[in-house]
Amino acid sequence: MKTIGILGGMSPESTATYYKTLNRLTNQRLGGYASAKILLHSVNFAATHAAQISGDWAGIGQDLAEAAVGLQKAGADMILLATNTMHKCAPAIAAATDLPFLHIGDACADRLTEDGRQYPALLGTAFTMEENFYTDRLAAHGLSPVIPDAVQRTDIHAIIFDELVHGVTSDTSRARYIEIVTDLASKGADSVILGCTEIGMLLNKDNSPLPPYDTALIHCGAVVEAALSA
Ligand code: GLU
Repeated sequence: MKTIGILGGMSPESTATYYKTLNRLTNQRLGGYASAKILLHSVNFAATHAAQISGDWAGIGQDLAEAAVGLQKAGADMILLATNTMHKCAPAIAAATDLPFLHIGDACADRLTEDGRQYPALLGTAFTMEENFYTDRLAAHGLSPVIPDAVQRTDIHAIIFDELVHGVTSDTSRARYIEIVTDLASKGADSVILGCTEIGMLLNKDNSPLPPYDTALIHCGAVVEAALSA
C-alpha cells in the first residue's frame, strides 16, 4: 500500500471527510483492520482565504508546493490536494515533486464520462465556477459544464464561506442549493458536480434533483485505487 500525502485544511471540514473516506474505502478493499497510510499537511485556512481574496495565487501556490516537498521527504508516494479551488495552483504543486499528483477535476471528469454524462452543472466557489482553470479541465475531457447565473453563484459561494467551512449546515441553505440545481436541470444539465469539497455536507444522492458527483468522494476513490495498485 502506498502512502497518501494530503495537502489539507482547506477547509478542515472537508479534510475530515477525506480522512474518513480514504480509511473507509481502504478498509472496504482490504478488510480486517486495514486502514489508509496517510501523511497530512494541514494548513491555516485563514492564510489560504486571505490569499484568495488578495489574488496572491502565486504565493499560496508556492507555499503548497513547499508543503508537497515536505510530504515527499516525509515518505509520501503521491500528492492529494483536498480542495477544488486550490487546483488553480495545481501546476506549481504538481511540478514541485516527482510524485504522482491526482487532479480532482480529472477524477471527477473520468467518472462523469464513464456514466455517459455530458452537461454537468458545476457548483463550487466563485473561483471554480467563474475562472477557467477548472472548466477548461472538464472541457478537455469533452464535458460542457453548465454554470449557474450570477445570483446563484453569489449564493453558492456565500453558503460555502459563511457556513460550510465553519461546519454549519442549515435547511435553508440546503433548500437553496436544491432550488439552484432544479433550475440548472431545466436549462439542460444532466448531472451536478459538487465542485467544492464541502458541498456534500448539504447535497447527496438522496436529496439532489440531478445525479450528484461529489468531488471529495470521487477524489478519494481514485486515490485509494492508485494507492492500492502495484
Ligand atoms: N474546499 C473548497 C473547494 O473544494 C473551498 C475551500 C477553498 O477555498 O479551498 O473548492
